[in-house]
Amino acid sequence: MRISLTTSKNNTMRKQIAAANWKMNLTYQQAEKLLDEMIATPHELKDGQLAIFAVPFPYLQLANEKLGGKKNVFVAAQNCYNKKSGAYTGEVSVEMLTSMNIEYVVLGHSERREYFNESNQLLAEKINICLDNNINPIFCCGESLSIREANTQNDFVGKQLEESLYHLSAEQIQKIVIAYEPIWAIGTGKTASSEQAQEMHAFIRSQLAKKYGNDIAENITILYGGSVKGNNAAELFSQKDVDGGLVGGASLNATEFVAIINALK
Ligand code: PEP
Repeated sequence: MRISLTTSKNNTMRKQIAAANWKMNLTYQQAEKLLDEMIATPHELKDGQLAIFAVPFPYLQLANEKLGGKKNVFVAAQNCYNKKSGAYTGEVSVEMLTSMNIEYVVLGHSERREYFNESNQLLAEKINICLDNNINPIFCCGESLSIREANTQNDFVGKQLEESLYHLSAEQIQKIVIAYEPIWAIGTGKTASSEQAQEMHAFIRSQLAKKYGNDIAENITILYGGSVKGNNAAELFSQKDVDGGLVGGASLNATEFVAIINALK
């Protein structure tokens, strides 16, 4: 399912997205219940607004069955491997995902960078294989608390973008959704202030503009992630360069996640 984009309130063509990252949570039965609750809770996705559900691999088909065909709703994977196919026991290829009509994959989440040693270079390879197979990466970046305290977050995030994305063509970069997720705000209940989020999003967009030009940079969706909840989403999303959120904990509760969807601008 492809959607047509219309100019949104910020006068750009960029999509506004509420993306759920379930991480390694929920049994099959709990996942089924949550999806049913999500569907039953009234929410509205206007043109140019998307809800994306990044569910664990074993639940992709279930999510497809429950959400498939719903307007502007997509099912995503939380990871994929950087090789096409073969003897890589336990890994999941992009071909497997496209064969299930999956169109988005979360890449470079800080948990994968930390616990699975994913480097900027490896992520560049994963980005390439996704784009070659018509999958849109949701590329996560963001700094640790010590980097923020040293005030070197721009250099750090700039390097993540440069090493994983800047080999892409102008056409390819427009297929990427960027998620800025300061590590100190993930799962901690400590949200970046809307000013901190806007400042980093504007920096990211300025770097993209330097590399690809203003028009392209203006049309790239940049999500904020880090303790987004129903009661802080509207304030965060009201910022000029914040185009929605990548949501962990609060996406496990239908009422919370629907409030976040309804906060999209
Ligand atoms: C995340 O997992 O990407 C995330 C931002 O988690 P949380 O919303 O729980 O901070």
